Amino acid sequence: MEKVKEYDLIVVGAGPAGLTAGMYGVRSGLETLVLEKGICGGLSNEAPEIENYPGFKRIRGMELAEKMKEQALEYVEIKELEKVEKIAWSGKGKEKNMVVFTEKGSYVTRAAVICSGTKHRRLDVKGEDEFLGKGISYCATCDGFFFRDKSVIVVGGGDSAVREALFLNNIGCKVTLVHRRGKLRAEPYLQKNLEKAGVRILWNSVVKEIRGDNVVGSIVRFDKDRGIEDELSAEGVFISIGEEPVNELAVQMGIKTNDNGYIITDKSQRTNLERVYAAGDVTGGVRQIVVACAEGAIAATSAYNDLQENR
Ligand code: NAP
Repeated sequence: MEKVKEYDLIVVGAGPAGLTAGMYGVRSGLETLVLEKGICGGLSNEAPEIENYPGFKRIRGMELAEKMKEQALEYVEIKELEKVEKIAWSGKGKEKNMVVFTEKGSYVTRAAVICSGTKHRRLDVKGEDEFLGKGISYCATCDGFFFRDKSVIVVGGGDSAVREALFLNNIGCKVTLVHRRGKLRAEPYLQKNLEKAGVRILWNSVVKEIRGDNVVGSIVRFDKDRGIEDELSAEGVFISIGEEPVNELAVQMGIKTNDNGYIITDKSQRTNLERVYAAGDVTGGVRQIVVACAEGAIAATSAYNDLQENR
């Protein structure tokens, strides 16, 4: 039987937090492995443009993720397309380790950093499942080009929705932003750009249903100002209403989360479990790439410090 490979540190997730944790782990002398269920970069791959990551005035999310991966690979072993299914404890005292089970095998590790990120929040309306991939998308960068010259609706009022609306407008879509309140949550800088671009906004509007015939054709919205429902035609609907933590693994392990499901950590990124850390969007708070990287670095450094004390 093949011997199970042993590591000092296993990082779950290869978004900006995980890639940074992996790099810092190896640089601290820890035998480190990064496991990623998809491809490196996480949701940052979907950002049409990033203007607030220091060192780059303007860069596409996918390009930044690729650069981060390239740099991380200089140091750390990364396994993409390998989902972690379970982490269990084995042994006692100083010999207590974790066994990481993936869909392809298992590994033993002394410490783990959970960087499982977030996933798109769903609208939960009629038609959302039916038309997914048939006019409904959660990623303008991925799917926007199919809708050039077409009328699209972007749902949401945060940074992501405004960025997606701007991106779609730039590539030639006829964009309407539909927001449930009378005020955007997006940062003022983005709001100004939206105004400059002349994107149409429907305020106080709640999407009730997405309709179509094989592909998306319209949405039903409730106009809170007028107290009526009407139907607006659209060939594409981009849902951008925030994110939810990917916390199944954390919950399975017994890691404490807050009321919204985000992992609770201290300032050193330690969770309630010994030698288990968390970093990046899955910890909530200020969800920005620069913060995820910082938390990844802190988590790996804490792992190094704790493992030194435990030797
Ligand atoms: P967000 O800030 O949580 O905004 C979500 C938006 O969707 C809000 O406007 C919210 O409305 C609306 N919404 C939520 N649930 C809804 C529902 N069921 N139906 C209709 N509308 C709904 O999410 P985000 O824009 O994805 O941003 C997530 C995080 O990433 C934030 O921390 C953000 O700062 C960060 N981010 C930053 C950038 C950047 O360039 N700096 C870019 C993208 C994301 P209400 O306003 O009424 O609550």
